[in-house]
Amino acid sequence: MAATGGVPRAIRRVLKGRACTAAISLLGPQRFLSTSFKASDLQIELSSHPKPKPDPGKLVFGKHFTDHMLTVEWTQEKSWSKPHIKPFQSISLHPASSALHYSVQLFEGMKAFRGPDEHVRLFRPMLNMERMLRTALRACLPPFDKAELLECIRQLIHVDRDWVPHSDSASLYIRPTFIGTEPSLGVAKSTYALLFVILGPVGPYFATGSFNPVSLLADPHFVRAWMGGVGDCKLGGNYGPTIHVQSEAVKKGCQQVLWLYGDDHQLTEVGTMNIFMFWKDQQGALELVTPPLNGIILPGVVRQSLLDLARKWGEFKVSEKVITMTDLIRGLEENRVKEVFGSGTACVVCPVNKILYQGKHYHIPTMENGPEIAKRFLKELTDIQYGRVASDWAQPV
Ligand SMILES: *Cc1c(COP(=O)(O)O)cnc(C)c1O
Repeated sequence: MAATGGVPRAIRRVLKGRACTAAISLLGPQRFLSTSFKASDLQIELSSHPKPKPDPGKLVFGKHFTDHMLTVEWTQEKSWSKPHIKPFQSISLHPASSALHYSVQLFEGMKAFRGPDEHVRLFRPMLNMERMLRTALRACLPPFDKAELLECIRQLIHVDRDWVPHSDSASLYIRPTFIGTEPSLGVAKSTYALLFVILGPVGPYFATGSFNPVSLLADPHFVRAWMGGVGDCKLGGNYGPTIHVQSEAVKKGCQQVLWLYGDDHQLTEVGTMNIFMFWKDQQGALELVTPPLNGIILPGVVRQSLLDLARKWGEFKVSEKVITMTDLIRGLEENRVKEVFGSGTACVVCPVNKILYQGKHYHIPTMENGPEIAKRFLKELTDIQYGRVASDWAQPV
């Protein structure tokens, strides 16, 4: 009687002869499985060899890691195990792990900021948790409780709180990661998975006082994401293939890639940032525009925040709509384009001053125009992130 495996004989006797399949499955191997790990179960092992902190003036993105990490294992059979905070260390994987072969893998990117009051804050972290859960379900990785993961991350940051830079522009980068560890080469849903979170101090994206613009290669031969695909998920598989395109951009003297889509060459994203344009529309009305979340756009936390801020200001039109290269070039020719910039956790906003498209260089007058709107966004968001201005977008750790 496979269905009653694990059910004590006394209970089996009670169930015997009754039509109670549901009761049997409740009492079966699944009976004590919780649907998520819990922060209250955290097992904490502190490092006995804390590392020296890097020189805050010489931080290179993604190269420095703190003393601890969070790990939580999952198996289909036993569900989630207890979350662990433990010394930062390498992980050991079966060589057939599905993360390595089929990119059953996803990640998040968020930051913790230390304010002048010494308090450490996260910026709208629940939006990252929601995106991570949505992406996990798309990758057939198991669900978890977003609030429990966030609380585990809070506790991890608290353990490594001395690593949050004492700075009004540096921060602690947080990289939640979720991988399939199925030890089998079948292309199938993982029955083993590992969720982990690592942290590292990062410097300011822009050196103090400089708001350096970037130049972009817009080549429609390269496509980042497509309708029906997974461009709206932070799946690792979306990013590896972009490295080649990025290197093509650099070969052509550009710094980043402007991702186009469709026969009408829609502007979708800049590198790993969302894109915004501030211009006068064809009727002469000032408008902030960014592409809609139609499946090929990554729903950025900063993108959402810029839209929310601009709508709160209420000073100009705010639109989520498709922008094509034809719209942009016509706007440039008619002197209507004021600013183009990317948005993302790394930089908040990043001005664009040049686009190379079909062999022609287009100058974007972002810097000539201040950039007034990009600078205002940068100031308002960083004031909230560093707790210089009170906001419920900033959550204490
Ligand atoms: C992460 C990411 C963004 C920015 O998202 P934020 O949550 O604002 O950091 C934009 N585009 C792509 C493709 C990304 O991967």
